[in-house]
Amino acid sequence: MKIIVHRGAQEIGGNCIELRSGKSRILLDYGAPLPKTDPVTHKSAAVTPEAAILDIPGLYGPSPNPILALIISHTHASHYGALLAKPINPGIKVYMSEIMEDVVRITTKMPRDGKKLPVGINYFRRGHKFILGRFVITPFLMDHTAAESFAFLVESEGKRVLYTGDFRDHGNKANAFKQFLANDMGPIDALITEGSQADVEKGPSEIDVMAEIEANLEDRRGALYVMCAGQNINLLASLAFLAKNTRRYLVVDGYTALLLERVKALAQKHGVDLKIPSLETEYLRIIRNNATQRIYQLTEYTETFSRMRPKMYGWDWLRDNLARCIIPVRANSQLWVEEQIQDFRHGAFLYSDWEKYTDEDGMQETLEWFKGKGLLAVPMPSTGHAYFSAIRKLVENKRPRYIVPVNTAHPDKFTAAFGKRVRLLKNGEEFYLD
Ligand SMILES: [Zn+2]
Repeated sequence: MKIIVHRGAQEIGGNCIELRSGKSRILLDYGAPLPKTDPVTHKSAAVTPEAAILDIPGLYGPSPNPILALIISHTHASHYGALLAKPINPGIKVYMSEIMEDVVRITTKMPRDGKKLPVGINYFRRGHKFILGRFVITPFLMDHTAAESFAFLVESEGKRVLYTGDFRDHGNKANAFKQFLANDMGPIDALITEGSQADVEKGPSEIDVMAEIEANLEDRRGALYVMCAGQNINLLASLAFLAKNTRRYLVVDGYTALLLERVKALAQKHGVDLKIPSLETEYLRIIRNNATQRIYQLTEYTETFSRMRPKMYGWDWLRDNLARCIIPVRANSQLWVEEQIQDFRHGAFLYSDWEKYTDEDGMQETLEWFKGKGLLAVPMPSTGHAYFSAIRKLVENKRPRYIVPVNTAHPDKFTAAFGKRVRLLKNGEEFYLD
C-alpha cells in the first residue's frame, strides 16, 4: 500500500491523503487551505477556488487508474471545502455520514456561502465496514468540534492504515475516543494523525472550562457572547447546560436551531438520543436575524420552521433580557450585533485564540471587533484538537510501525517523542508501506 499526502503534510488545513493498493485509489478528505490573515490589518482573505484545487490525476479528468472514492472525515472546510470549489470527476463516489451531508447542504444554502455539494452522496456509518476496490474501510466516531467526525481504518494487502481525521480526548464526546482506543484493530502499520495542537502537552477539558465560566458568571449582570461555530454541536450542548445552571437563555439563530434539530432527528433515526439542545429546550430562544429569515425561505424545512416560531423573539426582547442571555456568535456575527445591541456593559466575551485556525472567512475581524467592545475577555484554552498527551495515548495504544503527522506546524514534537517511527512526508511524496 502507498500513502501520498497531497496537502496537509507540511501545513495545517487543506488535508488530502491518497491511498493506493495495486490499481485501487481512494482519497481521504479534500479540504480547502485555511484563509490567510494579514498580520497588520488582521483582515482575512477568502480562499479562492483556484487555491483550493489540487492537480491529482483522475480527480477532474480521466486517468488509467481512476480514483474510486473520496471519503470525508468531517465537515470543517479544511477537510472538505475543496470538494465545493469545482465539480470533481463524477465517477468518484463521495462518502460522508448522513448527518454530515445534511450539515453541508444547510450551510451551503446560507447567503454567505452559495456553494454546491454534488448530488448522490454515499453514506457510511460508524463501525460499519465498506469495501472499495481492494480496500476495506471502517469509520470510527471521534471527539471533535464538528457535528460528527470520524477516523478511518483502511485495510488492504494485509496492511492497516489508521487515519485520525481531527480529534481530541477532552470534549463532550470523550467516550468516543475511549471506545476508539478500546477497539482491537489488529497491528497498525501506519498511523496518520493530526497534530494541530501538538505544541500543547496537556490542557483543561471542556468540562473544566465550563465549570470555571459558570463560577465567573454567577454575579455578572451582562450578556455572555461565546465564539462558537454553528455546527459546534458539542459546545452548544455545553452552553445549554451553562444556561440551565445559571438560569439564563441560550439565544441562537434559525440556522443553528435547524442544525440542532436535524442532527438530533438523524441520530434518533439510528437509535441514538443525543443530549443536545433542541426546540423542546425550555430556555432556548431564537432571534429573528438574517440567518433566521434565510431558513424561512428554505421550503424544504417549512415544517421545522413552523416548530421554531413559538421560540422566536425580536430585538426588543433581546435588549430587555440581555443580562440573562448566552449568545453564541460566529464569523461575521458582529454585523447584526452592531446594528441591534448598544449596551455592552457588564458583558463578557468567551473565545479561543485557536479560532485563528478556523476556516470561516472573516473570523479574525469578528474576534477583533468583540475584543474591542470593552467586554470582559475570557480566553478559552480548550479547543477542538488533541493535546499532545492524547496523541501519546493513541500511539501507546495502537503501537503503529510508522507515524505520519499531518495538519501540524510542530513535526519536531513528533520526532522528539516517537523517534524513527515518524515519517515526515512532503506534500505529494510517495510513501511505500513495505
Ligand atoms: Zn476539524
